[in-house]
Parts: sequence; C-alpha cells; structure tokens
Amino acid sequence: MNRVSYIGPKRRFFQWLLAIVWIGIPFIRSDGRSLVQFDLPNLAFYFGGALFRIEEMHLFWLLVLATLFLFLFLTMALGRIWCGWACPQTAFTDLAEGFARLIGMRVGNHGIKGNLYQQGALHLLYLLIALLAGFSFVWYFVPPDEFFGRLAAASPGFWPLGTGLLLAAVVLVDLVFLRRLFCREFCPYGRFQTVIADSATLTIRALPGELERCLDCAACLRACPMGIDIRDGFQIECINCARCIDACRRVMARQGQKGIIAYTFGTGGRGWRVLLNQRLMLIGLLFLILAAGLAYNVSHRTPVSLKLQRAPALPARLLDDGWSLTFFTVHLRNLSEMPLPLRIVAAEIGGKELLLKGPDNLTLRGDGKKSFRLGVVAGNPPPGAKGEIIFTVYAGTRKITESRAYITHVEEE
Ligand code: SF4
Ligand code: SF4
Repeated sequence: MNRVSYIGPKRRFFQWLLAIVWIGIPFIRSDGRSLVQFDLPNLAFYFGGALFRIEEMHLFWLLVLATLFLFLFLTMALGRIWCGWACPQTAFTDLAEGFARLIGMRVGNHGIKGNLYQQGALHLLYLLIALLAGFSFVWYFVPPDEFFGRLAAASPGFWPLGTGLLLAAVVLVDLVFLRRLFCREFCPYGRFQTVIADSATLTIRALPGELERCLDCAACLRACPMGIDIRDGFQIECINCARCIDACRRVMARQGQKGIIAYTFGTGGRGWRVLLNQRLMLIGLLFLILAAGLAYNVSHRTPVSLKLQRAPALPARLLDDGWSLTFFTVHLRNLSEMPLPLRIVAAEIGGKELLLKGPDNLTLRGDGKKSFRLGVVAGNPPPGAKGEIIFTVYAGTRKITESRAYITHVEEE
C-alpha cells in the first residue's frame, strides 16, 4: 500500500515559519536598526538598512496597492487558503487547541472542556500568546533591545506599553471567548470571500463521483474546526485548512483506498488551468505593473529631496545687460543618514549653465534640511512667455536629483 501523504504537518510547518519570521524580523539588525522598523516621531521607515521618509509617500502607496492586488489575486485563485494556513487567528487557535489536547482536555466545536487546573494552564497559555502577539507588533516601532532596555529601567514609555497591552487584551478576549467563532461570524475577510470567489477558485470538496465510496464514518466532520460537513458541498465558512482531507485519507487508507476529499480548482475537473481566465489574468497583470513600478521607483530613488518656490518677497528684476534675475526659495532635505556635500546647477532647457546668486555649494548633514534663497540670472523671456529652468543637484559628479521652475518676463523700470 502506498504511504499516505498528510497535509497537516506542512500546514503547521508553514504556520510556525510565518510566526518565527514575524517575531524574528525586529531582532535582525541591519545597519544598526531592525530589518523592518517604523519611526513614527520622524515619519520614517527603515527596510534592510535603507531609510524611507514621508517625502517618499508614493512608494508606500505603491507598496500598499501592489500588496492589495497580490492579496486579491491570491484570494481569487486560492480562496480562503490565507485563513487556514497563514492567519494568526487560526495559528493562535490551533496552538491553543493543540496544547489543550496535550494536557488531556476535550476540544470540540462548542468549546474546550477540562478541569480547573487544565483550564488554568490553558488560560495561562492564552495570556502568553496574547502578550507575545501584542508586543511583537510594538517591536516593529520600538526595537526589542530598546524596548527591553527601557523595561529593565522601569520606563517602558506610555505608548509602547499601552499599545502592547491593548493589543494583548484584544487577542486575549478573542482567544477566551471567540476563537473559531470569529472566523465563522465576524471576520471581514471571510465575508469578502463571498464577493470575489468564483468558479475557478481553489476550494475543498468531495471529488466528483467519489462520494459513493464514502463510509459515512463522519471522521471529516469531526476533524473540521468549523463544524462543516464538506460532503454537502462547498461552504463559505470553510477555511481551506485540509483537516477533513487528512481525516478522510487516514480512514480510507485502512481500506486500501485513496481519500474522497481534495483541494480542487473550480468544479469542472480542468485542474489549475481554470485559473487562466480573463478576470484573474487582469488582476495578476495589474499586480505585476504595480510591483514593477515599485521596483523601478525604489531602484531610482534619490537621497535628496529638492523643492523650489518663487520667492514672493523678492520680485524679479532686470539687469543692466538685459538679463533677468529671479529669486527662488530652495528647500533641500537629505533623506539619507550620511552627510552629503552638494552643488546646485541651473540651466535653461538645452542651454548652458546659468549664473546663480546665493549658496550653490553646501553640505547637508545626515537627515538635515535647509531652506534658502537662490537667485538665477537668465535671459528675459518675451512678454507673456515663460522660460523654463532646470535646477540640478550633484553630489561630487553624481547627479542626485533635478527640478524644473519657470521665470517670467520682467518689465523695464
Ligand atoms: S471543511 Fe475541511 S478544509 Fe474546510 S474548514 Fe472544515 S476541515 Fe477545514
Ligand atoms: S472521512 Fe471520508 S469516508 Fe468518512 S465520512 Fe468523511 S468523506 Fe466519508
């Protein structure tokens, strides 16, 4: 008889892997910071040692949109696989139920039954899970070494402590009172599924024409954490956890037969090819475009932001040689953490370098910003016309960024 392959160990491995990655990321250091760190007071975000500032908000929105389309794509293709394999809610509940069984408690769809000591131990585990969930979130804002340092000094700070405890309280209430009820009745993602699941989505079903082999042993029903009898057909409460598949495989293996229940894409028996439909391809394409846009923007990001405004208090004037002198307020910000010696050059489009009056050579300290007036001497445009000037910022010979500005005709006094 062939060895039976079970899905449960793979699902549990994946859940543990995700939990370790989530908890572990703030402990991994890169350039003196956590691998992923939000710096709310400075409105900044660190990823792999690279600093992203609020000025680069477009990158954040691109990331959010790309993630949204990826999530939509995966949900349309794989249904509630997130719920069964990756959602922390499921992972916490699985862990709690596994522990309850280990200490001899009875786990059913209507609660976890056991004596007072067992309930005490289970609730202690709930508390530990809740605290870990709450504070692992806080560590993305206050790195663990800083957090524990502050804790040891008895001054953890109101926001880190308050946020961690609040989140822990929410998780604790969920674990004590809701668990699978949350997935069944309240989870917005589950409701969302009813709108986007289609005839190609991956679901778990009894294979067509195989139900006549069913032994009616109800092992699949007993194994289901959502209380579903999958033999009645697909139900939206199903979280794609595959426990029923394993239960049926186990029972049928004793008969020398293969299981009756399986993951299937759609209902037509065409396998994964049903995914090659226009709707899914369009969502996938939009994700790829957004991901490519994000990759391009990240690889072409500049360490300096440059903004230009006409200086309102200093009107442009005509010089003796007929050229005009126009003043701009220049706002420069060093988005990196390294000091940068900078040089500003202005030129007409396709023209030669223009004379600047003001500080066109300066050094900006890491994370520093400066605003100053800069006058540019350029040819006086004809009445009613505008002259376009390009301001370029260099660090040494490396072009960092550029910005366009306009000058207007100046009347003779
Ligand atoms: S029907 Fe099967 S896959 Fe769906 S929730 Fe129940 S055990 Fe999990
Ligand atoms: S576990 Fe398999 S054989 Fe038993 S009731 Fe469910 S589908 Fe039928």
